Amino acid sequence: KDLPGEWMDHQLTVALRIRPLNEAEIEEGATIVAHKIDNQMVVLMDPCEDSDNVLRAHRSREKTYMFDLAFDYTATQEDVYVATTKNLIDGVIAGYNATVFAYGPTGAGKTHTMLGLDSEPGIYIRTLNDLFRAIEDSTEDLDCSVYMSYIEIYNEMIRDLLNPSSGYLELREDGKGEIRIAGITEFSTCNAKEIMALLTKGNKQRTQESTAANKTSSRSHAILQVTVKQKSRVKDINEEVRVGKLFMVDLAGTERASQTQNRGKRMKEGAHINRSLLALANCINALSEKGGKGAQFVNYRDSKLTRLLKDALGGNSRTVMITHISPASSNFEESRNTLVYADKAKNI
Ligand code: ADP
Ligand code: MG
Repeated sequence: KDLPGEWMDHQLTVALRIRPLNEAEIEEGATIVAHKIDNQMVVLMDPCEDSDNVLRAHRSREKTYMFDLAFDYTATQEDVYVATTKNLIDGVIAGYNATVFAYGPTGAGKTHTMLGLDSEPGIYIRTLNDLFRAIEDSTEDLDCSVYMSYIEIYNEMIRDLLNPSSGYLELREDGKGEIRIAGITEFSTCNAKEIMALLTKGNKQRTQESTAANKTSSRSHAILQVTVKQKSRVKDINEEVRVGKLFMVDLAGTERASQTQNRGKRMKEGAHINRSLLALANCINALSEKGGKGAQFVNYRDSKLTRLLKDALGGNSRTVMITHISPASSNFEESRNTLVYADKAKNI
């Protein structure tokens, strides 16, 4: 199989999206401390006015961070989609796998980027629209079918967001070593309105628990899995010729336990979330070192999230991480923590 152009040149892409100030932030008198300098560079300014301490004032009031792509409040949903995800579609149709993550603290804009609103649809629906169009326009003699499922992973348990009453579902490895979710609902409509309605409804089923940091902090990972299967139309040949998978993941909020004052049940959730995010970070680290240092052991088994994504993180897969932050002075610490993490991912 030929890899589509430049597929492997961009095995890991790390983007940053800074959302606009929101009304609550404006009301509390917050200022913008995160600025995009150019298409790759952002600067974060420490809002702490410490004029007595000349040394401190001169030392580290501003810090710059580099990304593969940087977006600020001027970026539209279409801009973010085109620069991060649109170019994955041909590869998935050609039988390759890819994963797009939305990463960042609660309230920073992850769900806006992935799901969005009816009036401003996000990456999920834009990707599916272009995928269906590309398949329709394809001149190849192949029968193509697209299957989708939408799940959440919460406390290391998997729920079907399209059929929440089905309880907790298990990951199974089939004879070919493929990971599947037993009993999952798969839908295969190509009607964009219908899909948006399904996803919006599914999103409302996500486990949302209030914490001190945010009333509707998302403590779960939401995963839209899209599988493209193609069979030859030529008679007598009826084997599957190509399967490409695309995972689009709205990760749980990355706010720290100390900030959310987690106790008891919250603490346990925090531990699970950290386990998934840590496992993910370890996988991404290991993968990106592979190029230079040869075989490095990648432990996918550490969490449900990484087990599920196994085929779409390693090998010939592409990974896009879209990091999100608020621009507000009141969220400075959280934004700095997020940028430091994303900077590490990028440096690999
Ligand atoms: P998260 O999923 O990271 O917790 P949300 O996506 O729910 O955050 O965003 C929080 C709020 O900010 C929502 O009301 C959302 O509509 C709004 N928002 C986020 N990003 C943007 C953006 N780029 N432009 C306009 N509004 C945004
Ligand atoms: Mg969200």
